[in-house]
Amino acid sequence: METLENKSSKKSSSHEGYVLVTGGAGYIGSHTVLELLICGYNVVVVDNLSNACEESLIRVQTLAGRPLKFYHANILDEQTLIPIFEKYNIWAVLHFAALKAVGESTKIPLDYYWNNVTGSLNLFRVMERFGAYNIVFSSSATVYGQPDIIPVNEKCSLGPVTNPYGKTKLFIEEAIRDMCAANNKWNAILLRYFNPTGAHPSGVIGENPRGIPNNLMPYVSQVVQGRFPFVKIFGGDYDTVDGTGVRDYIHVCDLATGHVAALRKLKTKPGCVAYNLGTGVGYSVLEIIKAMSRACGKEIPYQITKRRPGDIAVVTADARLANAELGWYPKYGLDQMCQDLWRWIDSNPLGYPESSNEAKQILQQMSA
Ligand code: NAD
Ligand code: UDP
Repeated sequence: METLENKSSKKSSSHEGYVLVTGGAGYIGSHTVLELLICGYNVVVVDNLSNACEESLIRVQTLAGRPLKFYHANILDEQTLIPIFEKYNIWAVLHFAALKAVGESTKIPLDYYWNNVTGSLNLFRVMERFGAYNIVFSSSATVYGQPDIIPVNEKCSLGPVTNPYGKTKLFIEEAIRDMCAANNKWNAILLRYFNPTGAHPSGVIGENPRGIPNNLMPYVSQVVQGRFPFVKIFGGDYDTVDGTGVRDYIHVCDLATGHVAALRKLKTKPGCVAYNLGTGVGYSVLEIIKAMSRACGKEIPYQITKRRPGDIAVVTADARLANAELGWYPKYGLDQMCQDLWRWIDSNPLGYPESSNEAKQILQQMSA
């Protein structure tokens, strides 16, 4: 049987050293790992699989035709991270690992602070110990709180942020800014994502559904699949095109290319810089439901209910800094986001299946 290891010998790396991707088995991480492999980077993934499974990485390797190294490990565990840094020449870290549900974070804030903040600080200490001073951090538009200006740009004031999840993002950004100010060996790019959605156009990797989603697109997907009877639209009386909330949705594959652009930028020793990753175009909840309905060819029932506390009418990105300094431009529009999302959920209605033991073993052998 041709294994991925010998298949991949036909495609080799064009980059020295390794990029460590924390949380690389998750939704945005897995799409980014694929893009990194396609671009010739050597990748080591660390993920504790608290919100992911090996199958995403097995599929990523197959799509890329190149292997990656995988460690089922927790970023909170320094004793697991150290041997990984000893073994691989890690020159940069893409740091995705985090708990990410806003609603859940208000119920179990300590878990969020511990996992996201302590986990990040632990990772940064290990990076510093090994002289791995280049980091790209997964931040969020949530750090702007209620933005002063729309579209929001990177000079807008940060916070106040009202939920523990968002506060962890702001705290980690602050820690990184302080680290960079204290030691100019550090280079950090803070990528503030707007509203990620979609899936790889192959339909082979995507967002694995778990529990009741908070976010609009995963919720709409579950209504399409018949798991919930209708979409609850939170507010129909905003000052927007049709009264429903407007957001800047961005294809996950555009986020993936944004990370590769950020890695290239790190090589120019930029210090600490934040970039918005969004399209600059806003769509209302009703426009999203209509676009998803076009993509799947089904009516999507909805009911307009009261506003969700803390929501604001419109949030869109001014991403001109990322365009100018990273040379990054999103290429997917709303219809493509919905078509790709639909392709993924139609072919994988229950998300990723449990991987076979053989597949898991192949992945583990690659890191031995
Ligand atoms: P995800 O849950 O799919 O991926 C996060 C991954 O991190 C998961 O695979 C999980 O198993 C892993 N993980 C969590 N804690 C860990 C730990 N202590 N050690 C090792 N692995 C750990 O989420 P995602 O949507 O891919 O988000 C990736 C990053 O982007 C997160 O930092 C998230 O906060 C940020 N972000 C996401 C969105 C969004 O809407 N999806 C928006 C803005 C920012
Ligand atoms: N929204 C909604 N119903 C839902 C989830 C979200 O009407 O079940 C709305 C929400 O009020 C906002 C938009 O959809 O206007 C995007 O919400 P999401 O939680 O996905 O992103 P965020 O508000 O964090 O930008």
